[in-house]
Amino acid sequence: MQRILIVEDERDIADLIGFNLQRAGYEVIKVHDGIEGTEVAMLERPDLILLDLMLPGRDGYAVFRELRRDPRTVNTPVIMLTARAQTEDRIQGLEAGADDYLTKPFSPKELMLRVQAILKRSEAPPGNVDFTHGPFRFDKNSLKFYIENHPADLTSTEFKLLLFLCERSGKPQDRNDLLRSVWGYSDATNSRTLDTHMKRLRQKLGSYGSLVETIRGVGYCVGKSNT
Ligand code: CA
Repeated sequence: MQRILIVEDERDIADLIGFNLQRAGYEVIKVHDGIEGTEVAMLERPDLILLDLMLPGRDGYAVFRELRRDPRTVNTPVIMLTARAQTEDRIQGLEAGADDYLTKPFSPKELMLRVQAILKRSEAPPGNVDFTHGPFRFDKNSLKFYIENHPADLTSTEFKLLLFLCERSGKPQDRNDLLRSVWGYSDATNSRTLDTHMKRLRQKLGSYGSLVETIRGVGYCVGKSNT
């Protein structure tokens, strides 16, 4: 059973989210402040964390930074929960590297869509276990990624994005296709999500970041490999 940690100080919201997730077959852990949230995440190592931004003790950004610094939670998918008025929060959250976000108030359907898409992303993709493209090697079973045989730390979202582009190298990939294949849905509001993930992905690829090209008006493309 997959486990989901909810870090949310508004108990009604935490209970409502928890109820819906349990009904869908997930195990749920609920905590109500940032410090406990950080500790429980590291001890329990959940499959996914729903993280509210405005929290007592330690705010959601600080919790998120702690999680990304710790090897136990560095790759745990995080969905940030933001209030509708706080557009800046959402943008900051994505730029900090959250996998996705939900704007309050959200429907149970929206919640399940995001959660299922992310958990599916963390599973090993089907097909050949190993895939190489130029300097990149993808181990699809473990979601491990190597550049010239050196391990590089990609989140499952970054892994899926780059793999999707490399498997279709030489062909520009439309933004909506990328969003649908990696996030499981595509709408106007998550377009920025794609760009912030691409930016971080390129940074992690270092000098190979330039292999991922922006195709203006279309999306992104990885060039064909000579090897
Ligand atoms: Ca709150």
